[in-house]
Amino acid sequence: MKKDDIVTLKIEDFSTEGLGIGHSEGLTLFVKDTVIGDVAEVKVMKMKKTYGYARLLRILTPSPDRVEAPCPVARSCGGCQIQEMRYEAQLRFKEQKVRNNLQRIGGFTDPPMEPIIGMDNPFRYRNKAQFPISRDKNGKLIAGFYAGRTHTVIDYQDCLLGAKVNQTILDIVLNHMEKYHIQPYDEATGRGLVRHVMIRVSSEVLREENASGQIMVCVVINGSSLPESGRLVQALCAIPGMTSITLNINRERTNVIMGRQIKLLWGQEFIEDTIGKIRFRISPLSFYQVNPRQTEKLYGKALEYAGLTGQETVWDLYCGIGTISLFLAQKARVVYGVEIVPDAICDARQNAQLNHITNAEFFVGKAEEVLPEKYEKEGIHADVIVVDPPRKGCEQSVLDTMLKIRPERIVYVSCDSATLARDLKYLCTGGYELKKVCPTEMFANSCHVETVVLMSRNDTQ
Ligand code: SAH
Repeated sequence: MKKDDIVTLKIEDFSTEGLGIGHSEGLTLFVKDTVIGDVAEVKVMKMKKTYGYARLLRILTPSPDRVEAPCPVARSCGGCQIQEMRYEAQLRFKEQKVRNNLQRIGGFTDPPMEPIIGMDNPFRYRNKAQFPISRDKNGKLIAGFYAGRTHTVIDYQDCLLGAKVNQTILDIVLNHMEKYHIQPYDEATGRGLVRHVMIRVSSEVLREENASGQIMVCVVINGSSLPESGRLVQALCAIPGMTSITLNINRERTNVIMGRQIKLLWGQEFIEDTIGKIRFRISPLSFYQVNPRQTEKLYGKALEYAGLTGQETVWDLYCGIGTISLFLAQKARVVYGVEIVPDAICDARQNAQLNHITNAEFFVGKAEEVLPEKYEKEGIHADVIVVDPPRKGCEQSVLDTMLKIRPERIVYVSCDSATLARDLKYLCTGGYELKKVCPTEMFANSCHVETVVLMSRNDTQ
């Protein structure tokens, strides 16, 4: 098979990036815009030894799970990879993805899976959006999303995953830029001022109860101030629920969206949101789960797996603003949280106070440094350890220290089932047993899946 060949194939799976995967002549082809079950005619674009990339020419037989995407830019936008697949089928795919990774990478022949926790409505769930600001070919100011695997901005402000109010906010920002001749940042030259607009909203706003909700707008700029910012503030404040307007200073030539410095323009530097019985304060730089409706279910599952009676010492590694820690603190003797971002720990401590929780303590630092140090110097103890690392999973030293501390239970919350499977395999060789696995939908219409896992100490070893 070579470039420009036209082949017919059946799509059997999705890649980690959400490309359809099919086989022809013993070779693997990745095809964008296809859905598992489609039979399609495709044109080979690039060929390597055993695999290649192809472009969809036409669908010969559509998958029974194919639906028309409600979003008009679903194909070009890099955000939703599998919106053209019926939601039920998305859930089956995600369950299967977790199972496959646990089998292939983790070596668990029959993983103890619970059914995936899906959403009732897979739209309007995201509480956070970061819109790049740019100009289109005709020089018009636009806000939108990056096209898949590029930095070309697609002019589209009403992402169906996000809050409706995003569009109003972006209109105001773009009007302001137009009126005062403020330039968008140009990645190629490093010139221009406005890079991104980051918007975060509380759960009420997602439910379109703006008046009782809270909205944060953070304009990321390549400079130290925004011309006529008072006028921008005035316009934004007319939106019910507006709570926090800030600038974020990012003067680096980087594709990291946010810089480190926040400047308050109006209101307060944070918004608040409630999950379950707990109220959280969220700063612009802190991590906060993007799907609040599902977060409650995710944390509920983590709490269930932790099996707390009120007597336990619990460690929550990668704790962010202390969300899981505070959930656990309701049922534990004491919870210790560890997180690398100082602002997040600041939020975590405030969140404990806000909720009158006195049995949670937080440490700033890398989990791979804090945990070994606490173990070696203080010989700390844990009955339960909860980890919720970023996609790359836990550092080896975190896993090794957990195996030395030997808690009765380990609850692993993961946004990447491949690194999860790798880490679970390691924990099993160190005397733990995989007890329960529960995939949880946090990112409907994308191919990402969150998973909560319970491991327990194997006392016979
Ligand atoms: N449990 C939290 C946050 C999970 S996201 C919640 O559910 O909201 C992962 C968190 O790990 C982020 O807050 C990130 O800042 C933090 N992090 C990343 N690398 C880390 C490290 N090496 N040590 C400690 N925390 C880290």
